Amino acid sequence: MNIAFHTLGCKVNTYETESVWTLFEQAGYTRVKPSEYADVYVINTCTVTNQGDAKSRKVIRQLIKKNPEAIIAVMGCYAQIDPDTIRAIDGVDIIIGTKQRERLVMLVEEYRRKRQQIEEVTDVSRYRVFDETHVTHFTENTRAFLKIQDGCNNFCSYCIIPFARGPVRSRDPKSVLQEAADLVRNGYQEIVLTGIHTGGYGTDLENYSLYQLLQDLIHIEGLNRLRISSIEINELTDDIISLIARSKQFANHLHIPLQSGSDAILQAMRRKYTTAQFQQRIQEIRQKIPNIAITTDVIVGFPGETDDHFLEMKECIKTMAFSELHVFPYSKRNGTKAALLSNQINGVVKSIRVNELLQLNEELATNYIAQQEELSVLFETSDDQYTYGHSDTYIYVKTPRNTTLHNQIVTCTVVTKNYKDVLVKIKKVEQ
Ligand code: SF4
Repeated sequence: MNIAFHTLGCKVNTYETESVWTLFEQAGYTRVKPSEYADVYVINTCTVTNQGDAKSRKVIRQLIKKNPEAIIAVMGCYAQIDPDTIRAIDGVDIIIGTKQRERLVMLVEEYRRKRQQIEEVTDVSRYRVFDETHVTHFTENTRAFLKIQDGCNNFCSYCIIPFARGPVRSRDPKSVLQEAADLVRNGYQEIVLTGIHTGGYGTDLENYSLYQLLQDLIHIEGLNRLRISSIEINELTDDIISLIARSKQFANHLHIPLQSGSDAILQAMRRKYTTAQFQQRIQEIRQKIPNIAITTDVIVGFPGETDDHFLEMKECIKTMAFSELHVFPYSKRNGTKAALLSNQINGVVKSIRVNELLQLNEELATNYIAQQEELSVLFETSDDQYTYGHSDTYIYVKTPRNTTLHNQIVTCTVVTKNYKDVLVKIKKVEQ
């Protein structure tokens, strides 16, 4: 039996696709690309924006049209939030939400016997179990993602995710450490800790915290690089910052979402910090880890964002010298508090502000790269001309094609410092 997966959305979805694939592999399936013929197609959906929903529906319809005889299984966040719409798409055979995806192998067998649509979407709002998964290799990634928790308790006013994922559930530390050790044994150089709200790890555990998990992880023999995919500013405790500063395994990079640089907007977003607190903490991090790259997310055009709020945001961003901004125009998400606000921002104003921030991003990234002479790079992929990778400071770089560098950590000299096209020269292969 052949199976194909199409994954939309974030790193957690990538991880979860791999975990479901692991179970199908154990059941004797062969994996093919979604563009090839398969007996079963699994679409792992995303619902973070209304566009995420639309894209998920488009992929589902395309795969049904191309493969009317195949079994079509739809899982993940969009399936959890809106099973009614998915059920109504002619040709969808199985719908499973964000809970107990390990049942999918069995559901496919059941569908094959009965040929009747199956729907397994139940309430997640009180779900307290971390569904155990185990991934020891990734089909398309050189860096390994390791899911350490699920769910979020924050309920930021623009975000639907807590409704799709339920409350914070931390993975058993033993299971995290076992999986990390297996990944290292399988040759992965870098592990990226992922979750829906990664920094929430441990808040539901007794006597064990994110700090302790990080401490235990860096003692795994052979682990060369550890990265936290994203963490909130108020979850970066003094202990964690000191650990990152003194440990050679930690990537010299933190991704800390700011979302807005205006206190009024942060409050309307229901974020749990002020700009002053954010700036103060960034200063403290930089004092302890001087050359650290700090990247961030910002949302532009949140309801009620005036020209003055936007100016405040730009000034605030400049003071923190981020090495990269991920700029998102605010997108109204049905089912969230912010979608009900009357003062929505006009699309033209939003795109002018997005462009201004993209320009600011260019300045910040250029400044950061201008200061870099050497980078520690994990090379990942190649095309006909170049081999590409990410530095520990999360700069995307290239060097003339040399596929023997794949999955190697290499010290490189920076040759061209154009932030969109950073060329490096190999100095020394480290790992
Ligand atoms: S922290 Fe806020 S933005 Fe992030 S998943 Fe939770 S509710 Fe959404």
